[in-house]
Amino acid sequence: MQKKHCPLCQKEVYWLVHHLHNVTDQVAVEQLKCDFSGWTEEDGLCLPCLEKHRKYNLASCYSIRITVN
Ligand SMILES: [Zn+2]
Repeated sequence: MQKKHCPLCQKEVYWLVHHLHNVTDQVAVEQLKCDFSGWTEEDGLCLPCLEKHRKYNLASCYSIRITVN
């Protein structure tokens, strides 16, 4: 199986995540587009990058809630 390069972290991975459907991932995708200009979900990303941004989004939501309160 040919390895691919994650466009975000440049690491070699066996597969990239291309299909992000649920609401959590949609938020992560919007954040990724802000952080990496030119990136789209069609470019894909490795699972560690996705997990990192899922956590990042949870942290953002939490800080927003604190600000509102
Ligand atoms: Zn990556």
